[in-house]
Amino acid sequence: MPGSTLTPLDWLAVAVGVVIFLMLAFAAVVSAREQEPRAAVVSSVLAVALSAPYLLLGLNEFKGVAPVTATLLLLTGGAAIALVIPLGKKRISEDDTPRGRIDERDIMFARNLLEVGSARFDEYYAAHPEKRTADDAFRALPGLLAPGTTMYDLYAYAAAGATEETVEYLRPLVDGEVAAERVVGDAQAVTEFIKSWALKLGAVSVGVTELRDYHMYSTVGRGEQYGQPVELNHGYAIAFTVEMSREMVASAPKGSIAMESYQQYLAAGAIAIQVAQLIRKLGYSARAHMDGNYRVVCPLVARDAGLGEIGRMGLLLTRELGPRVRLGVVTTELPLVTDARRFDCTVIDFCARCKKCAEICPSKAIRFGDREEIGGVRRWRIDQEACFTLWCRLGTDCGRCVSVCPYSHPDNLLHNFVRVGVRNSSLFRRLAIWLDDFFYGRRPPSAELPEWMRWEPVAEGDVTG
Ligand code: SF4
Ligand code: SF4
Repeated sequence: MPGSTLTPLDWLAVAVGVVIFLMLAFAAVVSAREQEPRAAVVSSVLAVALSAPYLLLGLNEFKGVAPVTATLLLLTGGAAIALVIPLGKKRISEDDTPRGRIDERDIMFARNLLEVGSARFDEYYAAHPEKRTADDAFRALPGLLAPGTTMYDLYAYAAAGATEETVEYLRPLVDGEVAAERVVGDAQAVTEFIKSWALKLGAVSVGVTELRDYHMYSTVGRGEQYGQPVELNHGYAIAFTVEMSREMVASAPKGSIAMESYQQYLAAGAIAIQVAQLIRKLGYSARAHMDGNYRVVCPLVARDAGLGEIGRMGLLLTRELGPRVRLGVVTTELPLVTDARRFDCTVIDFCARCKKCAEICPSKAIRFGDREEIGGVRRWRIDQEACFTLWCRLGTDCGRCVSVCPYSHPDNLLHNFVRVGVRNSSLFRRLAIWLDDFFYGRRPPSAELPEWMRWEPVAEGDVTG
């Protein structure tokens, strides 16, 4: 208003309005860059709608409204303080140490490799007749990367298959000869060097833990050593994560997810092999654990190395990228400095309320209920048969749960602001779950394939596979 004078209260209202506008405008720009159109539109509308009352009141468009302005500012300040106060950081004191080892022969990837009529096949189902019906169901379907699956895409499947074969070439390199001369150095220095090198090679996070009995499978379930007991005379394990591209995961369960999964198995495998080889050159035995050639349960090792917590979908939810990672592990006898597990009960609390992955899971493999007591440990049970059977129908490894998880958002200022709030306050967690649904949708649709992956068949042979 020409000639009018703004009071300190008016200035405060204007300042709050400007801050709200800038924060939401920033969210709109970031969302547009992340190719999240719904979040970009919602943020833009809210930037105008939520900042307008403060600006209009502050600029004295309405006379005699000082009490209204004061009330609005008090409510805003109260809400901001309530969200910042570290409430609900209750400790979950239960022991979540697994009571025994997992038999690798029971996991779906191992069962999928059993050839009908082979000695291994007969032996396995003689011991586990209860698994036969479910396994016959996935065997009756076309299978991963097979023609005739619902997500069939000639180029994407060929690319994923090419990467899978490259992973296969690397598998024999997980172990090797140890240098005769042993270097005796400082554990702190060598630990820092290995971690820094792994990050330089492309890892997002790296941690070290003592290797515990329950980290190891009980029995080998794949490859030439099938059926042999797992023995590792190593005291330490280095775990690391590599990022799965947001763009490739967003269009899950289309062919992009299979390409990206194998790509990051390859990346994780290459880093693990390099790190293991470095350690052997120092005169200590070391083994890389990579896709198709594990002796350890990677999520348990990574959890104990401080890289995250295991959430409702059964995957490791990392601090930086949630489940949108692949894991690699190196076990070794080289003395290293270990990291403490960062027990984060806020992840358990968030998963207990969120349930977005359970809502979106096409095979209903993820449960809505609370954690159950399984093998003496409370955790969420995943129906691995239902999940894998769907993969054999789709032809890809699905990944819808990973793509919609609120923890999967990119590692940037906007989402890290939310992550800090989620870790800090129970109230903030509830708000964050609601806002994630509001900005991105409770059941977000699968994104279009990246433009470079879209192609038109030019000849009959292109589509028949
Ligand atoms: S989608 Fe929600 S419930 Fe599922 S793992 Fe992620 S945070 Fe937990
Ligand atoms: S990968 Fe797909 S089928 Fe399997 S749990 Fe996730 S959403 Fe469900």
